[in-house]
Amino acid sequence: MRLFLVGLGIIMLSGAAQAFQRTTGLLASGTPFETRWYHYQSDEPGPCVLITGGIHGDEPAGYLAARQIADWTVKRGTLIVVPRCNPPAIEVRKRRVPGLEGVEGDLNRHFPPPDEASVVTDEQAVRIWDFLRKHDPDVLLDLHEGYGFRAAGSKSVGSSVITHRRNDNAQQAVMLKAVNQEITAEDRVFVPLFSAVKGSLVRAAAEQFEVDAHILETTTKDQSVSTRTRQHRRMVAAMLADLDMADASTGWLVCPDVSEMKIALYDGKGSGSATQSRRFEGVLENSRVVRVGAADIHEGCLDQFDAVIFPGGSGSGQGRTIGPEGREAVREFVDEGGAYVGVCAGAYLALNNYDWGLKLIGLDSFDRAHWRRGKGMVRIELTSEGQSVLGRNEQELEIKFAQGPLMVPSETGSHPTPEVLAWYRTGIGKNGADPETMVDTPAIVAAPFGDGRVVLFSPHPEQTSGLHDLLVTALGWAATEPELVPENIESDNAKDLLPVTEGAHDHVD
Ligand SMILES: [Zn+2]
Repeated sequence: MRLFLVGLGIIMLSGAAQAFQRTTGLLASGTPFETRWYHYQSDEPGPCVLITGGIHGDEPAGYLAARQIADWTVKRGTLIVVPRCNPPAIEVRKRRVPGLEGVEGDLNRHFPPPDEASVVTDEQAVRIWDFLRKHDPDVLLDLHEGYGFRAAGSKSVGSSVITHRRNDNAQQAVMLKAVNQEITAEDRVFVPLFSAVKGSLVRAAAEQFEVDAHILETTTKDQSVSTRTRQHRRMVAAMLADLDMADASTGWLVCPDVSEMKIALYDGKGSGSATQSRRFEGVLENSRVVRVGAADIHEGCLDQFDAVIFPGGSGSGQGRTIGPEGREAVREFVDEGGAYVGVCAGAYLALNNYDWGLKLIGLDSFDRAHWRRGKGMVRIELTSEGQSVLGRNEQELEIKFAQGPLMVPSETGSHPTPEVLAWYRTGIGKNGADPETMVDTPAIVAAPFGDGRVVLFSPHPEQTSGLHDLLVTALGWAATEPELVPENIESDNAKDLLPVTEGAHDHVD
């Protein structure tokens, strides 16, 4: 059993064998701008690279990628990351500090900071500037996002690397080459730009110090967060490889050492809106949730996680986007002990009767002709197993339904019999569907798959106020390794294989 702890303190990993040191602390402590920095010091001397993100609050890929990079290690030198430079703006998902207009509220127009800080934007600029001077980096990479593709003629600086003119453009070329390797559309390739705007951190750092400073800009338009964070990671990884600090691979999405539950949230094609991804992140705020796409899954990213969620949207869209290679990667992940939680479309995806499906469970969908059966609140009844797995005492719950699958035992395959955690007790039937058809069919089911566990929600706990905890408990249950029955183990090492029981649920599957 894994025990998931919440929170993050100072992490110090140092010893005689490995003299590296990982430290973290707060900048602007006690203010609305309070934000965490991460510092990794290798045991080998080398360059210092500073990564900043979240200077603008409406550029999520910058601060999310920076947070992922903060978990990386380097084989020489120092890697310092301040993922969220402007927390008040990030909080409201706006470019500017709330309550301030124009240049005054734009943190990236206040460098180098004035001698005497006057407005809050200046004060934060002073703090970041002091932090930069203290660490005296050789390279500064400031992660941002634009709204349009520069290569397509947009006025936005989206999809570019902006290197202030004093700098060596070889670094810029290295990052452009790395990121453009995965881009096939000509009007989406990253382009070089050569002048950072006056007042920006990168320009100030390049002009005031001998810092190689670059602004990395992804594009928000028509691209998932996982695509954009991946692009940021590729550029940063290429830079670190060029400095002989790391390999050119994109590295971890989540630190292997963290004790929080690590959840991959699919956000590629077929996954619905960005609002939906944020809703899942909100419900699961005590876990480490990282958005992943097909490219990440193909690369094998899932082995870094405890669980994967496929959310609402389109099951066929999801299945076809990740493709045979991605589907095999998901099956392998669960087979080796990972947790799969599918909601609505993500439940469809796991079923057994689609050629684009994962076939993780012995269930088929039925009444497929009426899949557009409508949306609304329905009543479900938890089974005793459901009450145990989902941590609820009551039997009946009202939950949001949005054209999730109607499930029946599969006619093919050799899966173990799934456990029904809840039954639909009322139904919805629009567009020619009979509402009675879904009554007394499974609403929430669970089953083992290899060493892992699968939980499928046909309805939407994350969209139903008061039922968010169902998702949390389902994930906690699914990510717990199924208990081994001692009699079945013939090895002398049986005791070693038995899981630690503290923190575990009572039931056995
Ligand atoms: Zn920006």
